[in-house]
Amino acid sequence: MFHIKKTLPYILLRKIYKKYYYKNVNFKKNPIYKIDNFPKEVWLENTNHCNASCIMCPRELQTRKKGLMKMDLYRKLIDEMSVHKNMVERLHMHNFGEPLLDKKLPERIKYAKDKGIKHVYFVSNASLLTSQIAETLIKSGLDQFKISFYGIDKETYNETMVDLDYETTLSNVKNFFNIRKKLNSTTPSVSIQLIPQLLKKGQIEKWYEQFENLLDPSVGDSIIEVPIHNFSDGRKYNNINQMVTDICPYPWRTMVILQNGKVSPCSHDFNGSIDLGDVNFLTISEVWNGQQYKKIRDSFKNLNYSNYSACNNCDVPRNAPALEHN
Ligand code: SF4
Repeated sequence: MFHIKKTLPYILLRKIYKKYYYKNVNFKKNPIYKIDNFPKEVWLENTNHCNASCIMCPRELQTRKKGLMKMDLYRKLIDEMSVHKNMVERLHMHNFGEPLLDKKLPERIKYAKDKGIKHVYFVSNASLLTSQIAETLIKSGLDQFKISFYGIDKETYNETMVDLDYETTLSNVKNFFNIRKKLNSTTPSVSIQLIPQLLKKGQIEKWYEQFENLLDPSVGDSIIEVPIHNFSDGRKYNNINQMVTDICPYPWRTMVILQNGKVSPCSHDFNGSIDLGDVNFLTISEVWNGQQYKKIRDSFKNLNYSNYSACNNCDVPRNAPALEHN
């Protein structure tokens, strides 16, 4: 079968590009590739269960076991992070699942905050953000969370966010802001996320109208627009037939710890196919400074993604728009 990556012009072009690239990327000076001995961003997947089936999320392709992160393991990881707390810029309390399905989430957040973790954050669909959960989250010390909300009415919402109820979620979101006000709290700040490709042009204005009177920019609330991505090879929104042109920065800044303790470099690897270690047996530092992380960084520096199946067809190093804290 014809494949562009195997043609001579492609191979030559890639060689020239790599030469040019290395002349222009200064690994020592570029802050993206500055490596500390502990990750700047740690993601702890409290659960990979989810109560939704959103169309852009390849949940149906996830074959790894579902579960909740054990509290003992969670505490061990936070204790380790606490020793390096000045290096950890942000702790993500989620990965590939709905974090509010975990009844212990507020307790976990409080533990992390009590141990001095600077910034604790998660992303949720807010369908389970009841008054009671809202109040415990506010009191837990959570710094920020982001709500994925893609729709302007029942119909448009369920075109993307299958299995969730538009009215319930919208009412939860509005209620959250009332409770935060009532408790006189300035935390957590809230971002509401839009993926513009999921709505039609005329709908985007209406989407903004739903939230504009709720947000309080003085405490850091915001709207975030992010481009759609493929979740590695889970979806086909972005074209991946173009040449690899970028070094994926994740192995230099991020560690994703799955609910079972296995380590992956990023949230795009939805099946955890990139195995960088296991924190049940090793420390975060040992994994971060270990052979597997070194190997993936060396491969990526050579624009070589072929050793990692999730990376080989991923849109991130192929000129996909910059992807920030999913
Ligand atoms: S190339 Fe894609 S799958 Fe691989 S580490 Fe980067 S973002 Fe993750």
